Amino acid sequence: MGLRTADETPRGRKDNEGPTSQADCLSTREGRLYIDELDTVELAARFGTPLFVLSETQLRRNVRRFRAAFAAEWEGPVDVMPAFKANTTLASRRVLTDEGAGADVYSPGELEGVLSTPVDRARVSVNGGGKSRDYLAHCVHEGVRITVEDVDEIDLIQAVAAEQDRKAKIRLRVKPTVPNLWRPTDFSQLTLPIDLAIQVYKSGIPPEFLVEMGRRAIAAPNIDMVGLHVHQGRHHASLWFWEGLMSRFGKLAGELVAAWDGWQPQEIDIGGGWPSPRDPLNEELPRSEFVLTALGFPLLAGLRGLGARLYHRALAGLVPVLSSHRFRATPPSIEQYAATSVRTLRRELQAARVSTAGVRLQIEPGRSMYGDAGIHLARVKTVKRQSQPFPYAWVLTDTTTFFLAGGHFERSRFRHVVANKADRPVAMTADLVGHSCFADQIVLGARLPEVVPGDVIALLETGAYQESSASNFNALPRPATVMVCGDQADVVRRAETVEDVYRRDLTPSRMHRFQGAHSDPVAMEIQS
Ligand SMILES: *Cc1c(COP(=O)(O)O)cnc(C)c1O
Repeated sequence: MGLRTADETPRGRKDNEGPTSQADCLSTREGRLYIDELDTVELAARFGTPLFVLSETQLRRNVRRFRAAFAAEWEGPVDVMPAFKANTTLASRRVLTDEGAGADVYSPGELEGVLSTPVDRARVSVNGGGKSRDYLAHCVHEGVRITVEDVDEIDLIQAVAAEQDRKAKIRLRVKPTVPNLWRPTDFSQLTLPIDLAIQVYKSGIPPEFLVEMGRRAIAAPNIDMVGLHVHQGRHHASLWFWEGLMSRFGKLAGELVAAWDGWQPQEIDIGGGWPSPRDPLNEELPRSEFVLTALGFPLLAGLRGLGARLYHRALAGLVPVLSSHRFRATPPSIEQYAATSVRTLRRELQAARVSTAGVRLQIEPGRSMYGDAGIHLARVKTVKRQSQPFPYAWVLTDTTTFFLAGGHFERSRFRHVVANKADRPVAMTADLVGHSCFADQIVLGARLPEVVPGDVIALLETGAYQESSASNFNALPRPATVMVCGDQADVVRRAETVEDVYRRDLTPSRMHRFQGAHSDPVAMEIQS
């Protein structure tokens, strides 16, 4: 049986933008949530909670689907180069390497992780600004693609490549101006238009430097400039966004090719930024947050004038409304994104007389590669309720938003399933919270079946950015990751211990003679 979470009321889903029936590693069987062929309740018991679970089959399916979708639209070769930062478990990376995928990396540590698998170096793109001389030398030595971000990077690459008597392969990461992208970005809580958000984001070379940089790179004896790169991330889930971005990128590419007389790209990398099927980004706050703040606060302030009893009665009515939630439309399918992105890009390139024959099209999906391959399991510790001054309920779990930090930054609202009660009807509304001392709101106003301590909650779509951004707040040891494949399950990243949490700490030797608080401070002073 397919999966529908309690939140996904048909009213909240507009299925007009694309099919929702993508192959899914999740299913419910006799009231239990399954991932691949495994009962998640049993996984929670066997490996402990909290726990990240990744499906190898889903990962493989995702790579193949991305490759097929873009290959169906693009005449040349297609390279799938998933963003490693989204999930840095080496086992998942081995699976992707086994599928022939390249990688987008952003740091020396990420590069090391990716190169620890037998990946094709020509399909590894090293992104990011401020790359050090040593790092660039390492990149040249390893033969990976350097995606240039800084104006002075060209000279540095030429210098280190000359020292090694090698030719560095580079691409320029460009930042087109996109005045056509006028809708609000999902990355900001403010109602900020996408073009402004892209302008203030640090990455990408501003157009004013590109012509000169390209000429310098083409003339450099130890540099082979092989392509262009653009990445802006998931500002908007619509096909409209991809049409808008690709048209401006294609135009800019055409202008550059004209200015660099005769230069032809061998690679065009359009980055990542496609949503995963149950796209959780920016759903914790409604789009009307700004209006709610502007109107809601004065309203609440005014209601206080009614006296405490009426004020609390008004809150009792308002709170469920404020925490109620409607999911946005299901995002388009990968095939639809591929069709829109590729057709728009080709149209602009052809208009500028840039040949696309034999050009490699590269894509760097992060969230959409790993997101739906992962779930997070947590166990209910307590259920807490109040009736005064107004009713409220919390389901306290043994995980924390600090283990789901990527989602917290992006105000993601994760679909959730009570794994051992997956077929029970909704019976309560409560905030699903974590056990750190923060408010630790994982899902506000979650609609749940009747929940008791010991139940297992599954948060969906947590394969990307969550585990890789987890922190140790409250000295909480970070959870393990288990990878499943069919009916097999293996720990691929072990859970931390409390000892791990303090492993980097050093107490200077002069502190060894410090006394405990129970010793007499006056006596200590006399001694010293
Ligand atoms: C983060 C990143 C990606 C992946 O972005 P998603 O939104 O996760 O698809 C791709 N390319 C670069 C350069 C990135 O920094």
